Amino acid sequence: MAVRVAVNGYGTIGKRVADAVAKQTDMTLVGVAKTRPSFEARLAVQSGYPLYVAGEGEVAAFEKAHLPTAGRVEDLLRQVDVVIDAAPDKVGRENAKLYAQAGVRAVFQGGEKSDVAEVSFNALANYDAAKGKRTVRVVSCNTTGLVRAAAALTSKWEVEHWEATIVRRGADPTETKKGPINGILPTFQLPSHHGHDVNTVFPQLHISTTAVVVPTTLMHVHVNHVRFARGPTDTAELLDTFRRTPRFHVFEPWEGVDGTPHVLEYARDRGLGRQDMMENALWEHGTRLDGRDATFFQAIHQESIVIPENIDAVRAMFGLAPDAAHSIAQTDRSLGIPPPAGAPA
Ligand code: NAD
Repeated sequence: MAVRVAVNGYGTIGKRVADAVAKQTDMTLVGVAKTRPSFEARLAVQSGYPLYVAGEGEVAAFEKAHLPTAGRVEDLLRQVDVVIDAAPDKVGRENAKLYAQAGVRAVFQGGEKSDVAEVSFNALANYDAAKGKRTVRVVSCNTTGLVRAAAALTSKWEVEHWEATIVRRGADPTETKKGPINGILPTFQLPSHHGHDVNTVFPQLHISTTAVVVPTTLMHVHVNHVRFARGPTDTAELLDTFRRTPRFHVFEPWEGVDGTPHVLEYARDRGLGRQDMMENALWEHGTRLDGRDATFFQAIHQESIVIPENIDAVRAMFGLAPDAAHSIAQTDRSLGIPPPAGAPA
């Protein structure tokens, strides 16, 4: 029996999650809920997704736009086993009351504080912790990027300390009222919240983060300095580990990828849909080991990196796969994410 899934909140994350759920053979997308009519609502209808009215939204507004709706979000919740909440930051916590009343399980996003759910989740790091849970929070885009890298490194070695600077995009491409437009804004929260958030998944990891916001909509870039207590012998071994870990993509020097514009051009050209890059993007020439100290850059496509993790979260909650490796492989196949080096064909 396929798990019946609702998506509540149909913006940047919600519409991608809905498309991803629709591609799964062990899940059924029962409907999506949206507060207001928009071109995205029209496209949802054109995709055949039953459309429900969310939050403070009004049925009349959808009728005026000639968009058929199947009811309110409460009607949708009565038909599903789990809802994936993709409402704006902090609204998920409000919505949690609805989900509890309806008796459905829920997946929340990283814009909510960690206590919104029983566990903060990343498929590579703590898949088993979500098994059987009623509420799970998929950590934010930056945290997902850091936690994936931490999962890759700590699976083989021991990290003594990790210092990361997060160069954050100022806004998503459609957030036309946000900035900065021409400036670099240091985040005067020292350390930034990202390291604490990594600790919701890896409580023992000694990590400290700082952040600056820059005028780009494309991606975040992390500048990582990792000191190992027990680590790789050389840069090649470090790179090999990233290449053999799912959801990493390592660009080679000859490819001419000099920054986030080319990373996303690569994503456009390979054509997985939209311009999504769901892997951590690293550079061979942006990764170096010097004694016990590793430095590496990674670029994170904020709009899409958490999409596979939402699918794995549902699979873990409902026991749809025996373990993380099977779930990740199944999700990645369905979404077209290439397998890691050395994976069985
Ligand atoms: P968004 O603003 O693009 O989309 C949110 C959608 O929810 C909008 O369509 C909005 O109209 C709708 N909405 C408003 N109130 C609602 C309600 N009461 N019930 C249901 N829907 C409601 O936001 P987003 O960027 O998709 O972010 C969603 C969540 O994902 C947040 O927690 C965010 O922190 C997290 N997240 C965002 C990104 C990113 O870069 N965009 C990355 C990772 C995680």
